[in-house]
Amino acid sequence: MAKVIFDSERCKGCELCVSVCPRGIIRMSNTLNSQGYHSAEVVEQDKCISCAFCARICPDTVIEVYRETKGKVS
Ligand code: SF4
Ligand code: SF4
Repeated sequence: MAKVIFDSERCKGCELCVSVCPRGIIRMSNTLNSQGYHSAEVVEQDKCISCAFCARICPDTVIEVYRETKGKVS
């Protein structure tokens, strides 16, 4: 399951999320959304640490972050 989900149609392309990601895994898409903006996207979901910095800084609440629950360990 994806840890980070972007509602790309609502993204305004401000790049704030790109600037705060500690793993450097958010980039701007080459294509335009229906509003005419290059939307943000995550390129390597498996490197995400679910810190939610991206979701907190986004002014348009485009991003949802999920944290995987640990399975039974013993
Ligand atoms: S939750 Fe953290 S590590 Fe994951 S994409 Fe957002 S800022 Fe990057
Ligand atoms: S902070 Fe939000 S609006 Fe700005 S580029 Fe990232 S997802 Fe898009």
